[in-house]
Amino acid sequence: MKKYSIGIDLGGTKILSALIDRETGKVLEHVKKKTKKDKGPGNIVKKMVESTQELLGDNKALLSEISSIGVGTAGQTDRESGILVAAPNLDCYNLNIRQILNEYFNIPVFIGNDVEVAALGEQKFGAGKGCDDFVCVFVGTGVGSAIVKDGKLIYGATGTAGEIGHIIVDLNGRQCACGAHGCLEAYASRSAIEKRIEGALKKGRKSCILDYLEPGKAITSSMIEKSVEREDELVIQCVTEASEYLSGGLASIINFINPKLIILGGGLIEAVDYFYQKTIKKARAKSLPVPAAKIQFKKAILGDFSGVIGAAFLEERGF
Ligand SMILES: [Zn+2]
Repeated sequence: MKKYSIGIDLGGTKILSALIDRETGKVLEHVKKKTKKDKGPGNIVKKMVESTQELLGDNKALLSEISSIGVGTAGQTDRESGILVAAPNLDCYNLNIRQILNEYFNIPVFIGNDVEVAALGEQKFGAGKGCDDFVCVFVGTGVGSAIVKDGKLIYGATGTAGEIGHIIVDLNGRQCACGAHGCLEAYASRSAIEKRIEGALKKGRKSCILDYLEPGKAITSSMIEKSVEREDELVIQCVTEASEYLSGGLASIINFINPKLIILGGGLIEAVDYFYQKTIKKARAKSLPVPAAKIQFKKAILGDFSGVIGAAFLEERGF
């Protein structure tokens, strides 16, 4: 068995690439490059190639010890052909990542979406280790999830299973980025909380989050956490409202799929423990009694590295 794999996590604001030890899942080296301004296929390919070269360094022998390059990316992927079909966040469409990286490095290349690789990472070396039957839910800019059943990811007929962010929680509700109305993501994501806080501030509500805000910059999960710690009324109200919706979404998963475990991750869960604790308590209370009595909740533990670690093991999926 070759000793290492390379995992690349391609996101809307950064590309994180890492050299991973295949036996332990440890991140041995990592390189981070920003993608905020320079998007489009040319820039993205250049940064992926440069990061991989930086990881390999001058050690020519290292290349022969690399089993594969795995790429986890935002957007829609065609796993079998290795093509990034559409990633509006990166301004990339029909980009054949497998072919391009294969031509540069002559190593097998696998791709998957960001939620899928994060779930794979948690399954191999994180909160899902030893459990064959769980659902991962990540809360950040959006709300995404991945379902693992009998140790395998469930993809569905079109590869889009797990889109929990777009289950409808309010028939006449807020417009979602997907075009529909009342999707969970429009109520329970960090972006949703951000919009609620901003809307209230515009109407003149007072909040200590103003102490952390900078003009033109977004509200971050850590600003939300600091405000919750200071018992800010407005921020607690918005976080509680989001938790009310997210717990409803989780209760629906529990009743519908009946998993053993739900792993919660993403920026908002990591930063705001109040949100996590409130959400899991309510999710249990809103579920049917029999599955509610057994369901376990855990926080994802690999944090920022879950994507690169999971991507490095995409090869085990077999295509
Ligand atoms: Zn939607």
